[in-house]
Amino acid sequence: MKMCLVPTAGKTGKTKDGKTYAAEIYYSPGIWSPHGACHLKHATAGGGSGSKTDEVLFHELVHALRRSSGKRARVEISGGLVEYTSNEELYAILVSSIYCTDPSNKTGSGLRGGHGGFESLESELAGSFEFFRASTTVYSLVETFCNDNPGFTGALAKVKSTFNPLASYYSDKKKARENSQSSTAVVRDAKGWGKAIWEAVNPFSSRKRMTRWLLLLFALPVALAPLARAEQFVLFDVTFTYTKADADNSTPSKSHYYVKEPVLNTARPRNWTTPVD
Ligand SMILES: [Zn+2]
Repeated sequence: MKMCLVPTAGKTGKTKDGKTYAAEIYYSPGIWSPHGACHLKHATAGGGSGSKTDEVLFHELVHALRRSSGKRARVEISGGLVEYTSNEELYAILVSSIYCTDPSNKTGSGLRGGHGGFESLESELAGSFEFFRASTTVYSLVETFCNDNPGFTGALAKVKSTFNPLASYYSDKKKARENSQSSTAVVRDAKGWGKAIWEAVNPFSSRKRMTRWLLLLFALPVALAPLARAEQFVLFDVTFTYTKADADNSTPSKSHYYVKEPVLNTARPRNWTTPVD
């Protein structure tokens, strides 16, 4: 199924980060159904919050709204919000969580805690005001969203969902801002930044980065091979018969066959601890 969202009144131009206004969503409900490929691959591993077929579509519709309203301005986010990866994903997940916990929605799966998978939101953040403790930056991000799309967010604030940070923002901005400056938010930011820095330098923090390191590791000997020239030589190549008498009489030890010059290559290196050339 292909769904197109175009701006009203023939609006043309670009979003804040240069994307076109119009949005297209390619959506296949089946792959997110309980036995669908995407559901089995992604949702079952993470807990499944926000992964139902209608919730996945709803999430994409939020992205489409940001784009068709010309407000999309994707920037990466970190600190206590590192799991959300970007401001646009934070908005899509936040609004989808309001949808999930609307009492009229009888099939809502639960609160999603990030964009990497479908893990649940940590319990300490699973409240309309508590969510602002996620990071010291969350208040200003929500504020930007509300300033960008006041009609949409204002309407959402009236929804009686059990989780509705937009309602909290509009009803008590001071309390929401204070929560985003709480010690919980500061500690989460420190942990999130630490995780981001570690992942940036740790070669094994992701499969992609590990693959890059391994490729480099295997490419190095090939690249350095011309610098390490060495001549090959034959130390000895001998065919011999061996009798009981040979075994009885060999010296210094019996039952040994001693390879000696000239059978042993006289042009062999004399010092085995240093390179041949
Ligand atoms: Zn998204």
